[in-house]
Amino acid sequence: MTEGRQLGFDTLQIHAGAAPDPATGARQVPIYQTTAYVFRDAEHAAALFNLQEVGYIYSRLTNPTVSALAERICHLEGGAGAICCSSGHAAQIMALFPLMGPGLNIVASTKLYGGTITQFSQTIKRFGWSCTFVDMDDEDAVRAAIDENTRAIFCESIANPGGYITDIPAMAKIADEAGVPLIVDNTSATPYLCNPIALGATLVVHSTTKYLTGNGTVTGGCVVDSGKFDWSASDKFPSLSQPEPAYHGLAFHPALGAMAFTFHSIAVGLRDLGMTMNPQGAHYTLMGIETLSLRMEKHVANARKVAEWLENDPRIEKVTYAGLPSSPYHHRVSTVCPKGAGALFTCAVKGGYDACVKLVDSLELFSHVANLGDARSLIIHSASTTHRQLSPEQQEAAGAAPNMVRLSIGIEDADDLIADLDQALTKATA
Ligand SMILES: *Cc1c(COP(=O)(O)O)cnc(C)c1O
Repeated sequence: MTEGRQLGFDTLQIHAGAAPDPATGARQVPIYQTTAYVFRDAEHAAALFNLQEVGYIYSRLTNPTVSALAERICHLEGGAGAICCSSGHAAQIMALFPLMGPGLNIVASTKLYGGTITQFSQTIKRFGWSCTFVDMDDEDAVRAAIDENTRAIFCESIANPGGYITDIPAMAKIADEAGVPLIVDNTSATPYLCNPIALGATLVVHSTTKYLTGNGTVTGGCVVDSGKFDWSASDKFPSLSQPEPAYHGLAFHPALGAMAFTFHSIAVGLRDLGMTMNPQGAHYTLMGIETLSLRMEKHVANARKVAEWLENDPRIEKVTYAGLPSSPYHHRVSTVCPKGAGALFTCAVKGGYDACVKLVDSLELFSHVANLGDARSLIIHSASTTHRQLSPEQQEAAGAAPNMVRLSIGIEDADDLIADLDQALTKATA
């Protein structure tokens, strides 16, 4: 029945990667709580280690429950291969690992999740990598930031914390001209709202901690490879195009083609960095993804209502939601995320820092947490929390000024969320 049919998103989010368990017929994906897998014989073991046969060896590398999740996200993103990792931040390191080396750099957007700005501006220096941050609305600045040591361009599809929308096709074109991959963090949009690979991205990274799991239970990450980048076109990516000394001289791209990045990420990345997702965590995320499209529809509908209400409230200075016609990013919705601008945005509260602090303390339904993409509505004052370690200039550029709060709109009744904001704003601006 399904032969030759292009299955729809709602079908794939339930069925992709999840055939009935071959051993027991279990309909739901079992949690394979095992560290190792018995080899059929010594020859089988050797074939697995030579990557001549695909199979399970040890759960730091692959595990059937985790593989089911990777395959499902891969299908939803339209990729060639995917690997899951222990967190979104792990996924970012795993995406960069095969591309980078000491002295090399990436060019990244100034509008990123606060933790990513810290990871890229500070922590990756320990590996000898560096990052140049640029405003990705300025295409000339992006071009100018790229040099002969640049190995990737990195942005978020719907960017933290303001819900700004990146012109992914424009960034893909610049990356293409420079002969480097475009990496898109698609966490806030999810593959339901945005398909970076279809828009020209090479790699997609996710914090599965957020909407993909959908209820704030487990941390996880994923890297999806489009399989379309020619790693051998230049001498820039020797880990993929040349014999890899960390895997007995295997030349991944010449040998494995579109699966080169994925196999390198398993055979070298997960093997040696060990940022592995555990099968329990994968199980929670598999459960969450089954309802992704339904939740995202409601997240978007609620975000639109709440953002409109806030924009018309005299206690609010401005709302950054790209779903509002007043947003300078509104015109990108139809090309980048046609099903909606997500459910994450910031608003500036009259009364500045103090009013923001009072607001987060007065809300009853909204939870004050450093998270997003939960079924329940969340709020955070970025300047005093997630973006606290940034300079005032970095805060401003990232949309996390002291008078701004970030809202992650959940799937409750929109009218209840508005009533909660109304009573808290009254207290905050009294
Ligand atoms: C949360 C988040 C991350 C980091 O993911 P973790 O799972 O917390 O490590 C990266 N990017 C974005 C956009 C995020 O929201």
